[in-house]
Amino acid sequence: MTIAFENTYARLPGQFYVKLPPTPVATPELVKLNTALAGELGLDANWLASPAGVEMLAGNAVPDGAEPIAMAYAGHQFGNWVPQLGDGRAILLGEVVDRHGERRDIQLKGAGRTPFSRMGDGRAWLGPVLREYIVSEAMAALGIATTRSLAAVTTGETVYRERARPGAILTRVARSHVRVGTFQFFAARGDVEALRALAEHVIARHDPDLTGSATPYRDLLQRVVRRQAALVAQWQNVGFIHGVMNTDNMSIAGETIDYGPCAFMDRFHPGQVYSSVDHGGRYAYGNQPRVAHWNLACFAQALVPLLDADDDAAVAVAQEVVDTFPTHFAEAHFAGLRAKLGLSEAHDDDDALARDLLQAMAEAGADFTNTFRALTEAAAADDPAPARAQFEDPTAFDEWAERWRRRLAAEATAPADRVREMRCANPAFVPRNHRVEAALAAAEEGDLAPFERLLAVLGRPFDDQPGAADLAAPPRPDEEVEATFCGT
Ligand code: AMP
Ligand code: MG
Repeated sequence: MTIAFENTYARLPGQFYVKLPPTPVATPELVKLNTALAGELGLDANWLASPAGVEMLAGNAVPDGAEPIAMAYAGHQFGNWVPQLGDGRAILLGEVVDRHGERRDIQLKGAGRTPFSRMGDGRAWLGPVLREYIVSEAMAALGIATTRSLAAVTTGETVYRERARPGAILTRVARSHVRVGTFQFFAARGDVEALRALAEHVIARHDPDLTGSATPYRDLLQRVVRRQAALVAQWQNVGFIHGVMNTDNMSIAGETIDYGPCAFMDRFHPGQVYSSVDHGGRYAYGNQPRVAHWNLACFAQALVPLLDADDDAAVAVAQEVVDTFPTHFAEAHFAGLRAKLGLSEAHDDDDALARDLLQAMAEAGADFTNTFRALTEAAAADDPAPARAQFEDPTAFDEWAERWRRRLAAEATAPADRVREMRCANPAFVPRNHRVEAALAAAEEGDLAPFERLLAVLGRPFDDQPGAADLAAPPRPDEEVEATFCGT
């Protein structure tokens, strides 16, 4: 099997990366292969699952044509500037052009130490690897832009995190691994030529239609602002909390990237935080739009040297474009909420209608996913009862439901069409923390059945799957997961 690797990133100047192969591991074993994704990438799943394929997925063999590198980047972590981060445990093997003609990075995460590892061991362990696998694949099935998971292997080596854990490697697929922090890395060094080369690389890769533009870098900034606005709006509308929205974890391609202590909310609360390291709640659910805006301001600032020869003019351009974020976000968020409520027309007070429901949900601690799914059932049955049951004290909901009923009645949409559309906006299944944790715990004990079952159900999140009702249920108090960990 030969993989037609292309290595456009490795063609960029030397300061963009360090060339080095993955560090071999003791006894690799395949835990999971994403055969559908392999097919999409034009890779032979049978070969990937063969001993030779697993050697590649574990970093023990570098395939012909690959030019492995660790990418350099910087970033703001929890608001603090870190001038050098970089791939401390990930190795980019190269790029392949998929069946749709899209360029995709293939990267091994957990592939050993690199010059960017700082104090880290360069490794990952099975729990976080399978966590990223589950959540990223669930996001993809929800229709949310995300990096993908091609494979998980165990290494046969032990990794120490509080205690001994089974080492593992994730094969991650991304439209690119360029981050806001990649631009910051060169901007902070005053390396304008590198900055320009990076911007050109990104435009050629993600926004080739901007190539002939008179203002390509301004347009790139605008594209990234729009992509992030759309992405974070989707997160908000499924109750996803990224958990570590540092600028090094924000993708220029607009994909959700770097799944660490991320989580889907059960009970709705805007202040919800799960990450064990997010003490101040900087990355709480309700802060995500603001943080995205802040990160984009960092991106814009990094682009300033490219925006205009005159510094003041460049800053003004950067400011102007970044200032469009709140509008783009509000539009995308609200369009999503309208779909969730089954509204196909736009009326003036829809915003208030959506906000008042969220307010009632927050006050009642209603389950985010199930309340919206129950609204779908309520629309189908022309009876609010299924959604009403999500509220312990339904007083506020009842008042709201009456407004909603009147609002729906004012639309021409046929109820059957409305219900069909609502089903596609309100998933029945998301990776609930307690189910994810249980699947990971079983996997660590060698039982992959709960992991496989969870993946299969989450692969069809909008379908009713009566046999999987347990996976749609919120946690009992004793099952509730209070904190999630990055596992690095
Ligand atoms: P993250 O919090 O996963 O976005 O990672 C932040 C930085 O820490 C990145 O530069 C990672 O490459 C690095 N890092 C995380 N875990 C490890 C590890 N176990 N060994 C080396 N570097 C790591
Ligand atoms: Mg990261």
